[in-house]
Amino acid sequence: MGGIPSKDEGKHRRHRHLSHRRDKGKIVQVFTRLPEVKEVLASGGTKASIIVEGGVQIDLRVVEEDSYGAALQYFTGSKEHNVHLRGIAKAQGIKLNEYGVFKGEKKIGGKEEKEVYQALGLPWMEPEIREDRGEIEAARDGRLPKLIRESEIKGDLHVHTRSSDGTSTIEEVVKAAQRHGYQYVAICDHSQSLKIAHGLDESRLAKQMEEIDRLNEKLKEFRILKGIEVDILMEGVWTSPTRYWKNSIWSSPRSQRFQAGPEKDDPEDHPGLRKSGGGCSGPSTGRLLGSRILTKWKWMK
Ligand SMILES: [Zn+2]
Repeated sequence: MGGIPSKDEGKHRRHRHLSHRRDKGKIVQVFTRLPEVKEVLASGGTKASIIVEGGVQIDLRVVEEDSYGAALQYFTGSKEHNVHLRGIAKAQGIKLNEYGVFKGEKKIGGKEEKEVYQALGLPWMEPEIREDRGEIEAARDGRLPKLIRESEIKGDLHVHTRSSDGTSTIEEVVKAAQRHGYQYVAICDHSQSLKIAHGLDESRLAKQMEEIDRLNEKLKEFRILKGIEVDILMEGVWTSPTRYWKNSIWSSPRSQRFQAGPEKDDPEDHPGLRKSGGGCSGPSTGRLLGSRILTKWKWMK
């Protein structure tokens, strides 16, 4: 009995070795009785599905240690990626499933995930790119991309502090950023129009910017960038005076017009942005996963 891969639409790979018990039923039982469980959707044999706090579904599959890699690969997906792999396998007279890699009756791999790929003459691939969008061809040609690692991220360009709806002071944000090895962080509290988020009016914003200047003087090899998350109202007015956007200011527009419908949001309606000297925008797309599409804005400069 091996580790327990957790399948969350294949997008997360926080698989943890929860148990090495020999009794499959016991593992399922322990899983469905975890304190985090809000609802048990299914339970029996070597499978269980639970709902935990926040409505997240977690599926459990208990597999033999010898099949762990094959199961991990299978449940990570995506479906398209796996269908493509199975097609390649078939052409080579190989069978892939969640239990392993088989040539005829003989099992030729499956304990480790890379064995699944190796059997097909392919290198192991990062889970994030398994979408059948060319990664299998790239792997075959030896041109798999090198993905960005968390350790390579140099800073964060959109952080809220206690001044609006964040939970930390600027100094605490800086300390946390330095712990992450960052070199810069942009403070982007809400502007005054967002009352529910305790948005900053002109005088509070001016004070915050003075504080940032003061802190920057003391900091070595780290820079706090000034930002503001402005709203663009229906009438095209930006909710923070543009003089505060100059130089190192990072504007982060939330467009009421866009929220009303992307077709109403014409980038040409926002000459203030171009004239402001604002450095950057983020989030630049206005996208809300699953519910809102991209803005039409083009962020060329
Ligand atoms: Zn924000």
